[in-house]
Amino acid sequence: MRVLRLDRCHPLAGGNKWFKLCLLLQRARAQGHRRLLSFGGPWSNHLHALAGLGAAAGFETVGVVRGEATAEPTATLRDCAARGMALVHVSRGDYRRRHDAAFQRALLDRHGPAALIPEGGDCVEGARGCLPVGRAIAGACPEGATVVVPAGTGTTLAGMAAALGPGYSLLGISALKGALDTDDRVRRNLAALGGGAGADWRIVHDAHEGGFARVSAPLREFQQWAEIALGLPLDPVYTAKALLALWRMLARGDIDRERPVVFVHTGGLQGRRGFAWLADGAG
Ligand SMILES: *Cc1c(COP(=O)(O)O)cnc(C)c1O
Repeated sequence: MRVLRLDRCHPLAGGNKWFKLCLLLQRARAQGHRRLLSFGGPWSNHLHALAGLGAAAGFETVGVVRGEATAEPTATLRDCAARGMALVHVSRGDYRRRHDAAFQRALLDRHGPAALIPEGGDCVEGARGCLPVGRAIAGACPEGATVVVPAGTGTTLAGMAAALGPGYSLLGISALKGALDTDDRVRRNLAALGGGAGADWRIVHDAHEGGFARVSAPLREFQQWAEIALGLPLDPVYTAKALLALWRMLARGDIDRERPVVFVHTGGLQGRRGFAWLADGAG
């Protein structure tokens, strides 16, 4: 197994978020925006990356956070605030309206003018930013490969699929339970990119270990083992879950061992602080 360490690609935003955000930040600047507004949960890797990359690029940032503010903010939100992000907490009910045009307009009236960046960078520009991830794999494994990548919105997978031609099998391990619309999102982003016609990709929906950010006992044991045995730091929400799924598929013989296998480490390590059972976790 080869590991593509996106977690090491950028000091402020290790992982796939840098790829997803780079073109969105460029576009915001080209449109004359000085402020960026986006959405995320209290442990969001996306808001964390946006706060860091936005500040480094000279933008003001606004993070619309799911759920009311708590007396003790999460380590993620503390970092966001330290990087200058203005945090706007909304109820879980309001947060569900984040894709709704009227709700977005009201947020921009209050906290704009700003470039609105979809949650998780899920749009064609976000996917386009991930083309280099696919190209890097094609360059490193010209003979073809099975590629495993953690998936949330599937934006990263869509960009990779558009860059990988026939000869590559791309498996996205969904971190969510029952998010069957992810496949449609991938198809939409792929169509908008105008690529990936011959790409062989699939989202695996049964490796969520209980649901988003849920940690089963086998997942926890696997992560603790893998970090020591492979020397690979992981996060329980995305990367450990996907690697466990890959391990099980290899054990079952579901993956051709004659071809190279590439695991894409999408980062998310800042989120480890949300898990008390990890050495650096604060609970
Ligand atoms: C956000 C995130 C993902 C999900 O990426 P999508 O493009 O939404 O599929 C995967 N892994 C990590 C570590 C992430 O932070």
